[in-house]
Parts: sequence; structure tokens; C-alpha cells
Amino acid sequence: MNPRKLIATARALRELGFDEVYTTEERYKEPVKEEKEDKAELLRKLYQQMEEERKCILYEGASGYVFGEGDPNSPVVFVGEAPGEEEDKLKRPFVGRAGQYLNSKLEQVGLKREKVYITNVVKSRPPGNRAPTREEMLTCLSYLRKEIEIINPKLLVCLGSTAMKGILGKEYPITKYRGQTFPYPYNPSIKVFLTYHPAYVLRNPSADKEFTEDLKKVVQLISQA
Ligand code: URA
Repeated sequence: MNPRKLIATARALRELGFDEVYTTEERYKEPVKEEKEDKAELLRKLYQQMEEERKCILYEGASGYVFGEGDPNSPVVFVGEAPGEEEDKLKRPFVGRAGQYLNSKLEQVGLKREKVYITNVVKSRPPGNRAPTREEMLTCLSYLRKEIEIINPKLLVCLGSTAMKGILGKEYPITKYRGQTFPYPYNPSIKVFLTYHPAYVLRNPSADKEFTEDLKKVVQLISQA
């Protein structure tokens, strides 16, 4: 076709409301939808970014980072305080005494550790296992938020007051607020549930009953959401 005629025809078609015109040789093809990167891959990239940036000030004094682990498609993320000695050695969260206790409690309420996701507010071990300072937490918090954003769970379970401080930015007494649910400030469609840290329950066996009740509530909340 004569190019002038072609342009005139294209203009006329556009005025009639056609945005795209295909010839018979050039059949319409469905646009290729960009595959969304899967969560495991995004978490791997986040870990790589952490290693490159080394922003957490506890990094240097520890053996490195202990990243979260478990099922990235889980509806629930358990958030602890910081890696301890065993976690630092094995580079896995909750593998020491508190972790073994947590595993047994998860099993008791019908949750499998490998089917949930477990992480910490602070990604490197504080010296002597002390609680991380506010400043130490602040240098790590952006990674935790990103981790949560990638997983996008229905429920975040704060294990103890450091996790609560990191997630809600509040310093409530955990003994008063345990068993309660709050909206996650960065995405209110995610619920935040507060309970004891397993190490606290190990030191205070009378808290075991409440801890069990809380974990049963976690199971209920996941199935409701
Ligand atoms: N305590 C925590 O808070 N996190 C761990 O990973 C281990 C013990």
C-alpha cells in the first residue's frame, strides 16, 4: 500500500478508537506476563544485599548473619530477638535450647517447624547474648521489614519484648499484652500476635500453660485469616 494511504488509514482507525492494528501475518499475541520472582529467590537476594552492605553494627563482633529460615509461603512468621551462641555457630535461627523447646511446642499444637518461617529482629549475635540495644536494632530493622514484605504473611508472632519493640515500636510489658493482636504498622492487613520468648518460658516454667494457649491461638488465627 502507498505509504500516504497507509498513514491516512491508520489515522482514521485511531480516530475510530483502535489503538493497535494487526495484519493477518502478524497475529495478535498475548503479552508475555513477567513472571513474578518467587519469594525464596527474593529472600536469597535480600540476604546477599545484607552481606554486601553489612549495615548491622553487630555483624563484626559475630560470625556473620543468621538469616530467617523455613517456608517463605507460610501464613505465619515467628520473630525472635537475636541469634545466640548455637545459632551464630550454625548460622540458623532458633537451633539452641530455646529453639528446641520452640520446636516441641510447635509440634504440640500441630505446627511443623519447616512449614512456618522463623527469623529474628537482629541478625547477628549480640556479645554475651545480651539484649540488643535500640541502636543495634535500628541498623537491622530495614532488613526485617523487607523480609516481612517479601513473605507477606497473615500473621506475625512476636516472641518476647525485643521482637515486639522491633515490630510494633512499642515497649509494652509482654506479660500484660501477651495473647493480644495488633495491626502491623507497615501493613495493617497483617496481624501481629504477642507472646513470650521461649527462653523466658524455659526460665519460668509456670508460663508454659499460657505459652501453649498462645500457640493454640496462633493456629486459630492462621486458619481464620
Ligand atoms: N533466641 C532468639 O531470639 N533467637 C534465636 O534465634 C535463638 C534464640
